[in-house]
Amino acid sequence: MKKTSIWTNIKDIDCKMLDKDIEVDVLIVGGGITGLSTLLELQNSNLKTILVERNICGHGVTSRSTAKITYLQEQIYMNTRKSSYDKASQYLKSQIEAASRLKDIITKNHIDCDLKEVSSYIFTNDEKNVAKLESEYDFLTNNHVNVEKTKLKGVNNILALKVDNTYTFHPLKYINYLKNLMKDFIYENSKVEAIDKKDGYYYSRVNGHIIKSKYVVFATHYPYFLIPLLFPFKNHVETSYIGAKEVKNTQDISAINIDKPCISMRYYGDGKKNYLIYLFQSFSSCNIKSIHDNFDELNRKYHFYYIWSNKDIITNDYIPYIGRVYKDDDTFLLACGYNTWGFTNGCLAGKILSDIITKKDNPYIDLFSPHRNINLNKILRLPIDLGCSVKAILKSTKNNVNNMSIIYKKIDGKNVAIYKDKKGKEHIVLNKCPHMKCGLVFNEVEETWDCLCHGSRFTIDGKCIEGPSNYDISFK
Ligand SMILES: Cc1cc2nc3c(=O)[nH]c(=O)nc-3n(C[C@H](O)[C@H](O)[C@H](O)COP(=O)(O)OP(=O)(O)OC[C@H]3O[C@@H](n4cnc5c(N)ncnc54)[C@H](O)[C@@H]3O)c2cc1C
Repeated sequence: MKKTSIWTNIKDIDCKMLDKDIEVDVLIVGGGITGLSTLLELQNSNLKTILVERNICGHGVTSRSTAKITYLQEQIYMNTRKSSYDKASQYLKSQIEAASRLKDIITKNHIDCDLKEVSSYIFTNDEKNVAKLESEYDFLTNNHVNVEKTKLKGVNNILALKVDNTYTFHPLKYINYLKNLMKDFIYENSKVEAIDKKDGYYYSRVNGHIIKSKYVVFATHYPYFLIPLLFPFKNHVETSYIGAKEVKNTQDISAINIDKPCISMRYYGDGKKNYLIYLFQSFSSCNIKSIHDNFDELNRKYHFYYIWSNKDIITNDYIPYIGRVYKDDDTFLLACGYNTWGFTNGCLAGKILSDIITKKDNPYIDLFSPHRNINLNKILRLPIDLGCSVKAILKSTKNNVNNMSIIYKKIDGKNVAIYKDKKGKEHIVLNKCPHMKCGLVFNEVEETWDCLCHGSRFTIDGKCIEGPSNYDISFK
């Protein structure tokens, strides 16, 4: 069994490291679906734009998704409708357009990324949720979506809804195509460490050099700065476990239920072998009992060939944040909080952010504004999120590891955690997430240190591989 995402099985296109000072119009920070989509959109402008990625493009959250391109998104419209029917309708429209835009980019450029047109389903096997699906059917038909009430074959379900014009693909093949196309403007292994603003320009420190720019776009999945948006109080992080197992044939479907536990599936064939990709469980990160037990349960049941986990940001009103970090300032922008639907939203973010920068109208700027008004859902969610953070901090101070190869102790007055690997080599890290000082839990399956509060992840030697932390936890 490989404890890695099925998508990381291909060779990456190499990009250079930043090794000199440089002046540009736009600096994009982060090379996932969001950053690369924004870079692609800005190719049509006359603005000099570069993208810097602290690791390898695409190897963040993007590489660990199930990679469906769909507007039939689990319970998002139901949740959004609670605060505003109009917003839910507008969000639906944006997702239909984004799915079609991404498909057009792929087909018009003949991008070899295993794009497949599939039917998307949401389904339930719980009597209590049938009314929810019925109401979703009404919402979709009222919004002119061609949707069918049906049953999904091969899965226990009472009712399913089905739509067409949705897709699956190989996310890293797509990212690699974009990298190859724009590699003159991409720098990898180049982390933005700090950004200062002076006389209308941003000065970003990367690899000991300075990038001077008029605009900065934050496409880092989770922004590392707290102010002005107080982002950690407007969302929570959800973790999911995913596996891929070999099957005889693929089917042209992608499906997700609206019950607990969450189940999501799609198929993938690489020409030699066929796989069923299966997402099992999805829950608020701080409710993880044991990462090890979850993986064990998953594997006992399905005998997966690949197995991995992933985290995404769930916003309190289920609509992403795309736009201006400071009100009325078009020069500092961000996009994040995709509620596990990042391919439509990442593609859409590229268009919205480039439209803001190039002063074009875009119908979705207000809907996705990070400054939108606080709604009741957000206020109700706040105590839950605070409780969750406290729980995660307490959990990470306990010895959570089954095989006892972790020791927590103080060295030179600092709290450290020592992991002894199978060969007996010790790996020492600081046992605090630099982002908001939450304790870290060892993920003994993927061998990473994970922050349950906000989702940062670190290698066994302390290198930060996922934000919001922008710092390592190496102990020197
Ligand atoms: C279990 C799961 C399944 C999912 N399945 C789907 C799906 O089927 N369909 C779908 O549409 N969405 C899906 N998603 C959601 C989707 O994968 C994400 O929302 C999306 O990939 C996020 O893309 P991103 O570009 O914002 O982030 P990332 O891909 O994480 O990219 C951010 C990049 O920024 C870089 N970075 C961070 N800090 C710095 C810095 N200081 N300097 C330079 N670079 C930096 C990081 O290294 C990283 O590469 C899923 C999510 C989960 C958790």
